[in-house]
Amino acid sequence: MNVATTAQQTTSKHTYRPGFVWDAHACLPLDPNTPIDLLDKYVAGNVDYVCVNVGMDMNTIPHILRVIAAFRAKIAAHPDKYMQIEKFDDLAIAKSKGLLGVGFDLEGSVMLQDMPDMVPVFAKLGVKQIHFAYNRNNSVAGGCHDVDMPLTDLGRDMVKSVNANGMIMDCSHTGRQSTLDIMAVSSKPVVFSHANPKTLGGHERCVDDDLIRACADTGGVIGICGFQRFIKSPNVPGVPDMIRHIDYAVKLVGVDHVGIGLDTMPSVPGTTDFPDGVDRAYYWPAQRGYGPGAGSAAVFDPRKLPALAGGLITAGYSTDDVDKIMGENFMRVAKESW
Ligand SMILES: [Zn+2]
Repeated sequence: MNVATTAQQTTSKHTYRPGFVWDAHACLPLDPNTPIDLLDKYVAGNVDYVCVNVGMDMNTIPHILRVIAAFRAKIAAHPDKYMQIEKFDDLAIAKSKGLLGVGFDLEGSVMLQDMPDMVPVFAKLGVKQIHFAYNRNNSVAGGCHDVDMPLTDLGRDMVKSVNANGMIMDCSHTGRQSTLDIMAVSSKPVVFSHANPKTLGGHERCVDDDLIRACADTGGVIGICGFQRFIKSPNVPGVPDMIRHIDYAVKLVGVDHVGIGLDTMPSVPGTTDFPDGVDRAYYWPAQRGYGPGAGSAAVFDPRKLPALAGGLITAGYSTDDVDKIMGENFMRVAKESW
């Protein structure tokens, strides 16, 4: 690894195509009517695999199942563009056919209904990654915007079930002590699929250096998020913003433990994430900078990922290192987890 130059000196004029591009977390409107061609931005960004959210702690199970059914059907209806990823070997098949591989993730554990046996059920529906708490505490684990609490006894059984049933264990949105407990209990690498270093991002949703080190110690990966509020950019996050966060994490834990998890969240008129209602102020507290008037929620555009890869080369990273950051690191975790 050679990180000789700083992010300020980089340029996005040059692009580079890594061996495999992995975006560890994306949101689509959680609505059966969501147009699946929103994923074409990932195709345009040369992404090979994207993990799409299909439900959070505040979504009901009937709603989550409708979303999963609709997304699966729409992916299957476009075999010329997309491929549902069920197992590790599917990644290479999708890549060889020039298709965008799509897996699902869950943000929270309320939908598991306090049953570790629910994990394999969702795994069979295409859920490849899960974190246990969405900002707020629940019966399994603590959330990052709530009173800090340890992983519960039920949570320990949930980690074992995630490890045993082929999902990547994620700790985005999770509280500090629960994160450390999950990382101590898990027999597989634990990731932050979409999070930013707190030293740079400042926000409570970001993760401090100790948590990033603990993640790396499991063999895990921190997926750098492109969300403006957490990347702390005055403008729509661009290549230099992403490189600033990647550089920080690489210097802290090494190039084997950093990846990409942009967390794009397009809004589509006529669709809703919450047909059954939600207390937004509870899950996104105004005192944590959420809500009306809190500023733009712009996200790094996945179509700029080739420019990000090129920018990393310009910044002094080797092509081997860029390949790791842009996809191979998360792929390594998937190989161990799925
Ligand atoms: Zn999230």
